[in-house]
Amino acid sequence: MTAVPTIGVLALQGDVAEHVAVLRSLDVPVVRVLSPEHLDAVDGMVLPGGESTTMSKLALRYGLMEPLRERVAAGMPAYGTCAGMIMLADEILGGTDDQRTVGGIDMTVRRNAFGRQRESFEARVPIDRIGGGPFEAVFIRAPWVERVGSGVIVLGEVKGPGEAGRIVAVLQGGLMATSFHPELTGDARIHRLFVDIVKGHA
Ligand code: GLN
Repeated sequence: MTAVPTIGVLALQGDVAEHVAVLRSLDVPVVRVLSPEHLDAVDGMVLPGGESTTMSKLALRYGLMEPLRERVAAGMPAYGTCAGMIMLADEILGGTDDQRTVGGIDMTVRRNAFGRQRESFEARVPIDRIGGGPFEAVFIRAPWVERVGSGVIVLGEVKGPGEAGRIVAVLQGGLMATSFHPELTGDARIHRLFVDIVKGHA
């Protein structure tokens, strides 16, 4: 077990700086990952929000897709927000034909699922694992999770008036994903949970 793990943030595209800032506020060494070599230095990875089709293209172009898959398959913890959640999904709906994911979480994620109804919104999401009351979650053209395998723990759901509950936060071993963006709201509880997960795995 490493006392202070080094966490990488996939820095190809998206809200990289915001994740780096939250992790630094938790006194965690952070590496911006832009090449396979950078991956060697990290104990866990954050995959940020952004645009998953672009992230997929850039990950392939920078030679990062396969090394990321290998590390995740070998047990490296990872946390994906929004587009990053899509990147960690074994199966996606509404993607482009050439879109690829790193995968790792046995789930089916629908891109822009909430976006069809509301481009962006905020909701209070109860997440028992983090304590301290519901999480003020910001959703931006967000995906939701339509199917989870038996090894996946549902951490949080959103339910609007008259709507079915939608899964927006999941955990499978060391892999975590949220449809929303905790890096934008100044509440570090979910990042702290991820750092603890990485410490446990290191
Ligand atoms: N809709 C975006 C996608 O499909 C995700 C949006 C986000 O990350 N805020 O990649």
